[in-house]
Amino acid sequence: MGLDAWVHCDCFERGRLKTPPPEEIWPNLEPDGGLTFETSNDELWWRFETWRREEACEHPQMKLVDHRLGNIGLIALIRDQLWERQSEFPVLFGKVIYNGCHAGDFLGVEWLGDLEAEVDRLGTFSIKKTRVTRWMQSWWPAFGKWRTWKLPSERNRIFLVEFQSQMKELIAAAKSVGKPICF
Ligand SMILES: [Zn+2]
Repeated sequence: MGLDAWVHCDCFERGRLKTPPPEEIWPNLEPDGGLTFETSNDELWWRFETWRREEACEHPQMKLVDHRLGNIGLIALIRDQLWERQSEFPVLFGKVIYNGCHAGDFLGVEWLGDLEAEVDRLGTFSIKKTRVTRWMQSWWPAFGKWRTWKLPSERNRIFLVEFQSQMKELIAAAKSVGKPICF
C-alpha cells in the first residue's frame, strides 16, 4: 500500500490516437481527465481496457506521468516532518498527503497554482535533526551522508527531495494538459 499519483494525457480529445477505439466502444471523458467505458458486456469492457492501456496512444495507460510518491510509512514521514508548519502547506496536507494510501480521488486544476507554491517551499524546508547531528555536522558537514551509510535525517532529506521532484513533474504535466492530478 502506498500513494500513487498520475496525470492522464489528452491524446483522445486532441485526436492524437495511435489506434482508434475498437468498434462499438465509445469512451467517456471523466472529470479526473481519464477515459471510461460503461457496458454490461465483460468482453467489450476488456477490449476497451486493453485498448486504453496498451494501444490507444504513445503513453502507457494513457498517463503522461505516473509516480509512486511513497509507501504509507514514507508519506507519514513527510506529514511528521511538516506537521508543525501545516498552515504553510494547506493543499499538500488537505489533498495530497492527508493519508498515505488514498485512491480514487483527484486534485483539480484550480489547486495547481497553490500546490506549486507549496511544493517550491519544500525546497527551503530543513529536515529535523538531533542535537548531536547538528553539532557533528557543524564541524564535519559530511557527517552521516556517506554513500554506504546515512543518518535517518539524511535519508529523510533525500526522500523529501525526491518527493518534491515527483510533485513538480506531476504539476507540470497537469498544467500542460489542463487536467487534474489523480490518486
Ligand atoms: Zn496519450
